[in-house]
Amino acid sequence: MSAQLDRDAPVVIVGGGLAGLACANQLDKLKIEYVLLESTNRLGGRVGSEKIDNFTIDIGFQSYQESYPEGRRILDSVSLELTRFYRGIYVQGESDKQTRFLLSDPRQYPGAVAELLATKLVGASDIICFLKLIPALSTRARRRLALNKPTKEFLADIGANSSLFKTVIEPFLSGVFIEDELETPASMTKFLLERLYSGPTSIPLSGMQMIPDQLAKQIKGEVRLGQRVSSISKKIVKLDDGSAVPASEVVLATELSTANDLLRLGLTGQLSKSVGYFYFLSERRPLEHPAVFTPSRKLGPILTIATISDVAQSYLPKSSKGSDVHLVSVSTLTTGDNGRQLPVEETYRELASLFGPEVAEWRELAAGVIPDALPKQFGRAVIPNGNPEIADGIFICGDYTDTPSINGALFSGRRAAIALADQRSSSTSHFSPLIGG
Ligand SMILES: Cc1cc2nc3c(=O)[nH]c(=O)nc-3n(C[C@H](O)[C@H](O)[C@H](O)COP(=O)(O)OP(=O)(O)OC[C@H]3O[C@@H](n4cnc5c(N)ncnc54)[C@H](O)[C@@H]3O)c2cc1C
Repeated sequence: MSAQLDRDAPVVIVGGGLAGLACANQLDKLKIEYVLLESTNRLGGRVGSEKIDNFTIDIGFQSYQESYPEGRRILDSVSLELTRFYRGIYVQGESDKQTRFLLSDPRQYPGAVAELLATKLVGASDIICFLKLIPALSTRARRRLALNKPTKEFLADIGANSSLFKTVIEPFLSGVFIEDELETPASMTKFLLERLYSGPTSIPLSGMQMIPDQLAKQIKGEVRLGQRVSSISKKIVKLDDGSAVPASEVVLATELSTANDLLRLGLTGQLSKSVGYFYFLSERRPLEHPAVFTPSRKLGPILTIATISDVAQSYLPKSSKGSDVHLVSVSTLTTGDNGRQLPVEETYRELASLFGPEVAEWRELAAGVIPDALPKQFGRAVIPNGNPEIADGIFICGDYTDTPSINGALFSGRRAAIALADQRSSSTSHFSPLIGG
């Protein structure tokens, strides 16, 4: 088949998460035709929401950093109607499980430093640790040397071992990275801290699903839902039902485990981390402010707790207006031999130790496990040269090819589309009689 005839088929994007949608968006801009195949009946992949008893439930505890550069580039934050978390974090007192401190961002709340000092959580050693952390994260030489290391080693190297780090930074990072060991590379910690420093943490007024919904509305190409891809080769994508879709090129925009299977990447070991989630309805507000609470990692499986309806009232059904009901999100580590079981009893026990007997009155609205929540291997560990063209005519994108985040997924999708267009123009120019002649 000639190169010209191959081009009659569209590009096939496999996967309609944020990476696939961002790829489609960029291909539209480049005026390249495509078909997007998504195995489920919804676009958005790991970012999404559902309705249960008219409450909006995000798929696990999720949030959006308004400072994400790719988000700013591709999303219209005004129509997302972003509503913000309090700029601060709840941490647990050391002596009493039911004592919590709210550490606020001093740039937003000027009294925060005095309040922090009054908690006695902060001492001279903490200030020294912070002073060491800032240059360690920003100096170029250090970045090259140290940021491939696991976060835990990196923090130990720079002497970040004060009590504040143990009470605040470590539980917080565990909550975001879904792991106790802090094996996530320090480059991810740097990225996260920079984004948090640069802007607020938000959720769209009507749930996280608004993010993929907005992207889906913008794209012009054909989208086919309920199409599970079972194999891919340079010019043909085969589906579970035995049918085949011809492709000029393929962009694989699935999560890492599927990419590993479809492309036979040969990656071994644990590829992803699972996370558990619970949503509860409580008549009393368990936390005074709409800030995230990351309890001590010594207590049990809970990673984060937040009263989502205090951030966005619209997550509650209209019928509940005027009544005292609060939607509480709890995320947890998972358990079991396969690491995919929800630690139900342990979570209830920990909640009771944190909030007392009132937890018995909470109604469980939803609970579950998200199996491939975050990739364990990502970025240069998967594509060492940073080139998304993994084989001739086959491109990859997805959070595992950049940073495991909304920003990473969006960026990777755009990068794959640009690489594809570059590849086309370099091969066209190679054969072009104008250039050749
Ligand atoms: C609970 C949770 C909380 C999170 N919180 C945050 C957060 O607060 N901030 C943040 O920045 N990031 C967060 N993340 C990470 C972020 O959601 C992901 O990094 C990002 O959404 C990944 O997008 P993706 O497009 O790379 O992959 P995915 O969203 O996994 O998309 C892959 C798509 O491919 C489809 N697919 C798979 N196999 C096939 C097949 N064979 N054929 C066709 N289609 C297929 C899937 O159905 C899916 O739609 C969170 C993730 C989880 C799970």
